[in-house]
Amino acid sequence: MPIQQTFAIIKPDAVASGQTGQIVSMIEKAGFRIRGMKMTRLSKQQAEGFYEIHREKPFFGGLVMFMTEGPVVVLVLERDNAIKHWRDVMGATNPANAAEGTIRKSFAKNIERNAVHGSDAPETAAVEIPFFFSMAELL
Ligand code: UDP
Ligand code: MG
Repeated sequence: MPIQQTFAIIKPDAVASGQTGQIVSMIEKAGFRIRGMKMTRLSKQQAEGFYEIHREKPFFGGLVMFMTEGPVVVLVLERDNAIKHWRDVMGATNPANAAEGTIRKSFAKNIERNAVHGSDAPETAAVEIPFFFSMAELL
């Protein structure tokens, strides 16, 4: 599998709980190179745009409220098979279903406040990375 990039967010719940460092450490231990990383706070418009695909879902309003409630850390991660590998390290969307040792099993509170985001496909990563990072910011 060739080198690939994926997009990650450490969500407001995990940043507020002081888990940023532990999650970054898990990312590095899992063999990713961090190509971009910054702290930001999403506007309502940004959160709605980022999660546009979920606009019709019943959880959309709550998700936008959650994602804008405080700062997040956004990252571009690189390794072989990065997209699938990062999804595996994150664990299932609902922490009740997440495997032992995954980030969501360790840190997520519930299906909404689930600590981290990861792109789900190459086409998604190709949209999500430039949503937050300019070419000059990727090292
Ligand atoms: N989410 C939620 N309720 C649900 C499903 C998802 O609040 O029933 C939130 C949760 O924060 C999740 C995000 O919406 O991470 C995006 O959902 P998706 O199905 O894309 O899950 P992911 O790709 O993040 O695992
Ligand atoms: Mg998703």
